[in-house]
Amino acid sequence: MIDLRSDTVTKPTQAMREVIAQAPVGDDVYGDDPTVNALEERVAALFGKEAGLFTPTGSLANQLMMRTLVQPGQELLAEVNSHVVRAELGAAATFSGITTRTWQAPFGLLDAAQPLAIAAPNAGPYLVSTAAIAIENTHNFGGGTVQPLDQMKALYEGATKEGIAIHLDGARIWNAHIASGVALDQYGKYAQTISVCFSKGLGAPIGSMALSTRDRIATARIWRKRYGAGMRQVGILAAAADYAITHHMHDLAHDHRRAQLLATAIASIDSSLIDPATVETNIVGLNLKSLSITAAELADRTKSAGLLIGALGPHFARLVTHRDFDDAQCDQAIQILRKTLVG
Ligand SMILES: *Cc1c(COP(=O)(O)O)cnc(C)c1O
Repeated sequence: MIDLRSDTVTKPTQAMREVIAQAPVGDDVYGDDPTVNALEERVAALFGKEAGLFTPTGSLANQLMMRTLVQPGQELLAEVNSHVVRAELGAAATFSGITTRTWQAPFGLLDAAQPLAIAAPNAGPYLVSTAAIAIENTHNFGGGTVQPLDQMKALYEGATKEGIAIHLDGARIWNAHIASGVALDQYGKYAQTISVCFSKGLGAPIGSMALSTRDRIATARIWRKRYGAGMRQVGILAAAADYAITHHMHDLAHDHRRAQLLATAIASIDSSLIDPATVETNIVGLNLKSLSITAAELADRTKSAGLLIGALGPHFARLVTHRDFDDAQCDQAIQILRKTLVG
């Protein structure tokens, strides 16, 4: 079975398992795990931030950072298809009393003027005040869209003037970096807080990180424990993440190339499904509106032919390439899609 539901489905390699087995560990709730401490320092430095906090999931890293920026009853602005709005099950409202307002952008592509136009800082005693804006790079449900650095800069500068903070959901910032060539610390410049995932394209089994100032991370450390996510000898996971950054990041270019092959092949079958020019990284989002079948039905058909894809809406299917998907499987997947879409 070829699995393109997500880039989270990869399994740790033998070499990664050996690094996990050798990792020096300690009780991280006491700050005693040298492998975790080293990873937090390494990743913070990569993004030009003071400190990092290892978390089990990217959702938790997002939630811990957003709550340091937004007080209960204040609002967070986010794109309508962003992960923090659609895929974290209302966590910001449930745990932090954060209200949300959204703007809509084709492919999730950031145009700084859009959030700035709806921002309402210091809205007074009768209206909700905007405290932060969340952006996503790459934009997952937008189809792996890389956010232009100039728009990130314009947003950061415009928001700063208004006293509004920026959170960057960088679950796949590694893909953005590889696709665009923009340095990670350049991306880091234009957000007060960042989350990154090691468990997506980088291929670590578990793990994400929140990044910000020493103060915000100290606060987030307390909230992580309060949420029940203080972890003990978690260096075994930090070692996998560290290995993934060193050895897997540059392989993301292959995932991007294979996503382009998939998109081009699918467009040659039916050009209404996707424009390959919109595929910049490892996500191929298919618009099925012109088909007579739903995304769930398409996913059922490809599954019986040996290919798992994601049905993320009635007319939206997603294929995500990853390091456990090679060129031979890419050829096979194209054949299956051809049969399923034509037949
Ligand atoms: C995967 C993902 C996350 C985090 O997901 P978890 O499953 O909680 O690790 C956050 N943001 C985006 C855009 C993602 O794709």
